[in-house]
Amino acid sequence: MTERITGHTELIGLIAYPIRHSKSPTMHNEAFKKLGLDYAYLAFEVDNSTLEDTVKGFRAMKVRGWNVSMPNKTVIGQYLDHLSPAAELCGAVNTVVNDNGVLTGHITDGIGFMTGLKESGVDVIGKKMTIAGAGGAATAIEIQAALDGVKEISIFNRRDEFWARAEQNVKNINEKTSCKATLYDLADHESLRREIEDSYIFVNATGVGMKPLEGQMVIPDASYLRKDLIVADTVYSPRTTKLLETAKEVGCAKAINGEGMMLYQGAAAFKMWTGQDMPVEHIKDVLDIQF
Ligand code: NAD
Repeated sequence: MTERITGHTELIGLIAYPIRHSKSPTMHNEAFKKLGLDYAYLAFEVDNSTLEDTVKGFRAMKVRGWNVSMPNKTVIGQYLDHLSPAAELCGAVNTVVNDNGVLTGHITDGIGFMTGLKESGVDVIGKKMTIAGAGGAATAIEIQAALDGVKEISIFNRRDEFWARAEQNVKNINEKTSCKATLYDLADHESLRREIEDSYIFVNATGVGMKPLEGQMVIPDASYLRKDLIVADTVYSPRTTKLLETAKEVGCAKAINGEGMMLYQGAAAFKMWTGQDMPVEHIKDVLDIQF
């Protein structure tokens, strides 16, 4: 790394807390190196208490852009000049682009998920999706899917602290896009079975399947799946969740893990900052991504 950093090198950042575990610095620095781009990507431990000062500093220092993760994603919007339509509807930002001092917030998680599907040979446009979840990942997918032209989305969530957000997502989609969204209680198994049966794709965007809920799945059993169903999970660790394992046993058309979403959310941000396509095959090798 160091031998390629000069006085001309531009900074791209990542602000979150905690953040030291992130694969994003490796992803972006490898991509810069591969393409010979004069940028360096660094992670900074920033929480809500130092967020405003950080944004002011990055703006003043003409930092080209940065990624934003928790706990800043839903808070940073107020310090930016513009939000993309998806970021506005999600109420969250994971990527900031600095165009000569004008800061625009984007959310690329949903773009990453949709691109991952496309790269897996799955075309959901004009079709029906059933999705479990209403947190950060689920909201980004639901909004982006609706903006991209998915025809209908059935959202299932527990009646927990995310229920109000699920209601807001349904309202936003129905009022601001041409997609039709409906919310159901995840405990309503009859509706869950019917909606999955009627869908082209079922998506798990809850934490079920990863630690501490590893080995569990968001549907009651394998009978909710069928052979021509596409099944996608946002979880990428473990690489194969109980849901994806079950989908493979049933013989579902595809069982797609969350690694594509992770890779392509980064690729979308990379393109916004540099104008270049991320060399994704190289990054897949470097990060051992298989989806
Ligand atoms: P979050 O905390 O914002 O949302 C959690 C969601 O899980 C909520 O909808 C909640 O109701 C639901 N949930 C939690 N426990 C549950 C249970 N026992 N039963 C049913 N539902 C339950 O989290 P998030 O950031 O949206 O992450 C959700 C999932 O998405 C995680 O598995 C995470 O690994 C994954 N994710 C993947 C990527 C990627 O790039 N692939 C990015 C972000 C998140």
